[in-house]
Amino acid sequence: MVDYSAIKLNESSFDKLPARLRYNGLVADYYRTYADELKHDNFSRDYFERLYKNADLVENCSKYWEVDYYRLQRVKSLEKVNLCRDKFCVNCQSVLANARLHKFEPIIKDVWKTNKIFHCVFTVENCKGFVLKNVIKKMYKSFGYFVRYLNGRAKIRGLKFDYLGFKGGVRSLELTYNKEDDTYHPHFHCLLAFSKNLNLDKKFLNKFSYSKYSDEVRYFSQEEILFQKIWYLLNIGEKVNHINIDNVDLGYSVACDEAKETDMHEVFKYALKADFDKDVCLGFEQFKLYRESLLNLRIIQGYGNFLNYEFETNDFSAVELDVAIQEYKAQLRLVENPVRVYEQADILVDNIKSGKWNYITSGSIKKFILED
Ligand SMILES: [Zn+2]
Repeated sequence: MVDYSAIKLNESSFDKLPARLRYNGLVADYYRTYADELKHDNFSRDYFERLYKNADLVENCSKYWEVDYYRLQRVKSLEKVNLCRDKFCVNCQSVLANARLHKFEPIIKDVWKTNKIFHCVFTVENCKGFVLKNVIKKMYKSFGYFVRYLNGRAKIRGLKFDYLGFKGGVRSLELTYNKEDDTYHPHFHCLLAFSKNLNLDKKFLNKFSYSKYSDEVRYFSQEEILFQKIWYLLNIGEKVNHINIDNVDLGYSVACDEAKETDMHEVFKYALKADFDKDVCLGFEQFKLYRESLLNLRIIQGYGNFLNYEFETNDFSAVELDVAIQEYKAQLRLVENPVRVYEQADILVDNIKSGKWNYITSGSIKKFILED
């Protein structure tokens, strides 16, 4: 027996949307102001026209719904909504992050059955805004190299990592802004799969053991410290060899721990989440900087066994969640074919309250756009 309650909408179904859209008006203003600036600076027409278009999309995110209206049966089925899919739209980024988690959790868990998975955070020194784009670019390159050391494609004389049995991983970029000293903190959250255990016999202390945000002291294993040194050399553009590794007193922070299920959220959340969670929208200068720094970058990337997965897919449908709606609509269609109409979100909410129609939607839309 199919459970149709999972596709029915009620008065509170739309309660979460306004909070997630609260910055969109401001972000739209940012896009327009930025476009005006670039226009003034004689940038190419295509470039700033696109920014105006982004402004309109962000401003109208989730405002209009395509609805299939079954008049005789007084049922309205929400089929589609105009998501802007913008990097700065908290709504779209949470929709996509949740859909991503739903889609990839089983795949990762499957690898987990026969391998160890570690949550590893790779950090570089905090940097000023004007170098952020280059720092991130370098991190991307360095991480690619780091993976090549892990899988044995690149060799460091006298050092081998094949014993770890690296299987692959997922790497995602997170950016945070530190207002106190006006610096940026780009870092990677990764899930890395190995057939063997990393050596996590943590007994060494260094500068990264202490954080101003917590009293907890973090110890590192020999292996983590080695990773820190290699990661550092890669990012400052020095050759990674034995002598240089030995000469590094302190690398850049790399911290590895056996992954917990909740770490998947860390990896699949969106890049700017932490800044948006601060309950103030990011400032205009940050907006411009993030936009330029993240342009054409893959925020989430798979390696090894996970190389060929489209982690950044914009598709949020999940077949198994949509069986109920398909069946329900098949029954409705026995009586009549629907008419496609458009409804504005606020009118739609009023309509649901009035109770004149029964509103339904797919499990995917309900779960990812309305509920999560
Ligand atoms: Zn959006």
